[in-house]
Amino acid sequence: MATMHNPYTPEHEQFRQTVRQFVERELTPHALEWDRAGIFPREVFRKCGELGLFGINHDPKYGGSGLDYWYVTAFTEELVRSQNAGVNMALLVQGQMATPIINEIGTDEQKREFLQPALMGEKIAALGVSEPGAGSDVANLKTTARRVGDEYVIDGSKMWITNGTRADFITLAVRTGEAGYEGISLVTFPTDVKGYQVSKKLDKIGNLSSDTAILYFEDCKIPVRYLLGEENQGFYHIMTNFQGERLTAAIIAVAGMEHMVQEAIRYGTEREAFGRPIIKFQVWRHKFAEHLTAIEAAKRLTYHAVSLFDAKENAVKEISMAKLFAGDLAQRVAYDCQQMFGGMGYIEETHMARAWRDVRLLTIGGGTSEVMKEIISKLSGL
Ligand SMILES: Cc1cc2nc3c(=O)[nH]c(=O)nc-3n(C[C@H](O)[C@H](O)[C@H](O)COP(=O)(O)OP(=O)(O)OC[C@H]3O[C@@H](n4cnc5c(N)ncnc54)[C@H](O)[C@@H]3O)c2cc1C
Repeated sequence: MATMHNPYTPEHEQFRQTVRQFVERELTPHALEWDRAGIFPREVFRKCGELGLFGINHDPKYGGSGLDYWYVTAFTEELVRSQNAGVNMALLVQGQMATPIINEIGTDEQKREFLQPALMGEKIAALGVSEPGAGSDVANLKTTARRVGDEYVIDGSKMWITNGTRADFITLAVRTGEAGYEGISLVTFPTDVKGYQVSKKLDKIGNLSSDTAILYFEDCKIPVRYLLGEENQGFYHIMTNFQGERLTAAIIAVAGMEHMVQEAIRYGTEREAFGRPIIKFQVWRHKFAEHLTAIEAAKRLTYHAVSLFDAKENAVKEISMAKLFAGDLAQRVAYDCQQMFGGMGYIEETHMARAWRDVRLLTIGGGTSEVMKEIISKLSGL
């Protein structure tokens, strides 16, 4: 039975084992190869779809499993075993960032055309919110959707879009009204529309196996029935959607830190200098004792946010705190774990070296640490 100390039931644990086996068999062996290739096989989406890993908490009518959020948490925790943050991000975008909003407010037709094939892993999904001129400042986005008859005509550009080079559809934020947050809508955008173009695949410093793109829209016509929810209510939906995205970021940060610390302690136990295992130097033992304590605090804060989110209570403050705390902490933990590896920590083949560069994204993507502080301040009446 789940308790306050352990929120997982035997059913959750069984599901966790399934994910672990899949990750260790299908993903981990390719970690370095896919980073070097700058992409991973499309087939991975299909395999995840077959195992039901995208639709964990989505509507069973459209291929989901309708399970609680602790299953999503267990899935996300197990993903870090892939040792490839790019794949993890791409898969989380598919199941937990680009599709939840369709699951929540999409029409039956949108769910059949976009949600269902995405949950099956047959169509690749992307979330298109950020633009060259609007990342943190979502309310300032400029991509327009003009209504002409029963169509929207879309013009503009999106930036840093994960799964962007090969997405079959995009959950896209567009401006349908006046300037500011009240003029934004969300649409489902199929990428085979005329005038749509992937302008560039961006070269990143980390998360190398995931494709991140600049997208360009010129006179792209889509039917009005692709509108998600109500016109000009998109900002509200984006902010709601961000909660799941930020929560998975906090979960993956915590699980990633636990993984990194275990790796570093193992290395420090095996590696000797000056006649003893490196971990036996007090300076390292104390450093890791501090990290283990802080990681436990990050985990409890994150689990608190998960339980609120799972109970459909307002968790914006707790989720923002969890992302801020875990994301910032991960920077220091990754630095020290990499340092423990000495020269090997600077060699790409060492997972720890790749983890150190990948972890940088945690304070930037899906809302920066500064943006989290703004939200927490506002919700605390500061
Ligand atoms: C690898 C990667 C994948 C991504 N995937 C996606 C995706 O799939 N879909 C998508 O829509 N977006 C995606 N993004 C975009 C990401 O969400 C944005 O980069 C992020 O929100 C920050 O926006 P920005 O880059 O425009 O930074 P800016 O908003 O330009 O911020 C620059 C700096 O100013 C700070 N700043 C901004 N406002 C304030 C303030 N009020 N007070 C104090 N400081 C402030 C920021 O914290 C930051 O440090 C991705 C980004 C990356 C790097």
